[in-house]
Amino acid sequence: MTDPFGRSIDYLRISVTDRCNERCLYCMPEGYKGWAKRADHLTAAQIVSIARAASRLGFTKFRLTGGEPLLRSDFLEIAQGIGAFDNLHSLGLSTNGTRLAPLAADLAAAGVRAANISLDALDPAAYRRITGGDLAQVLAGIDAALANGLFVKLNTVLMRGVNESELPSLVRFAAARRMPIRFIELMPLTRTDVLTPANFLSLADARVILENALGPLSALPDYRAGHGPARYHECRDFPRARIGFIGALSEQDFCASCNKLRLTADGKLRPCLGRHGELDLAAALANDQLDAAISEAIAQKPEAHEFHADYHPDRPMTAIGG
Ligand code: SAM
Ligand code: SF4
Repeated sequence: MTDPFGRSIDYLRISVTDRCNERCLYCMPEGYKGWAKRADHLTAAQIVSIARAASRLGFTKFRLTGGEPLLRSDFLEIAQGIGAFDNLHSLGLSTNGTRLAPLAADLAAAGVRAANISLDALDPAAYRRITGGDLAQVLAGIDAALANGLFVKLNTVLMRGVNESELPSLVRFAAARRMPIRFIELMPLTRTDVLTPANFLSLADARVILENALGPLSALPDYRAGHGPARYHECRDFPRARIGFIGALSEQDFCASCNKLRLTADGKLRPCLGRHGELDLAAALANDQLDAAISEAIAQKPEAHEFHADYHPDRPMTAIGG
């Protein structure tokens, strides 16, 4: 399906829960009380029904995210349901990795082919400072995902003064395991105070840090690793490294290649991550109007996000699904 700006929309990201076991500085607002009620979370069957309707309309790429998706006890049921679609091109998972190790084999069997794993630091103390979590669990999760044949990419959110010194070692770590790594500019998605000039580390500045430590980078315009917006680079001195940059704030044409809709944990369909508009898909499901609602969300896709316009998030990233 094509949106009003000629972009082909075939990718649905589904937040299966707005709960999380970590508290990342840039994601989970301190003292946040706006959780969706448990009763308002879509059931596994509802999620699969919505995804099936999207699949019928031509969506072929699905990602299960959150919050931390692996907190849901019926996660495998959701993955199996979507993993069985006929015209499925890819089923991916975004996770903080803390619960991945014991589940990786079952996830692979359920049809999950790819895992994006958040990793903001390799120093255990820095990791704990940023996320509140335990690095060892994440490293075990990465090993298990690789051992079970999942295609793993790492996601690192850039924060000045917080993890800039970690960036070169993260690239070395990823390259040694042949995993692409993507550096993500901080977005005002949860707390308005998170995106300050003091915290923001641009892709350009991250690139300088990487080149000083690792050697020159050069663009790989034709390299793709999945279906996201990253622009990849290689490093002359680390030929195995695949370094992706995701710059919603500093790249002017960031939205030009957008191919997705987002389903929130409580059943709202978001045409854009960086705009407030939502359609009530839970209601559309109850009224047997799913196809019309999904088509309407595509028709309502804006040309670009509003992060530059003093954007105030209404709901955190955990509810919308990163
Ligand atoms: N819990 C899972 C995880 O951490 O990967 C999935 C959900 S998380 C919201 C998805 C992605 O969004 C992660 O890579 C996370 O780093 C990123 N993210 C969260 N808040 C962000 C922010 N304010 N700016 C940029 N990326 C953000
Ligand atoms: Fe949880 Fe992921 Fe947000 Fe961190 S980025 S608080 S792991 S949802």
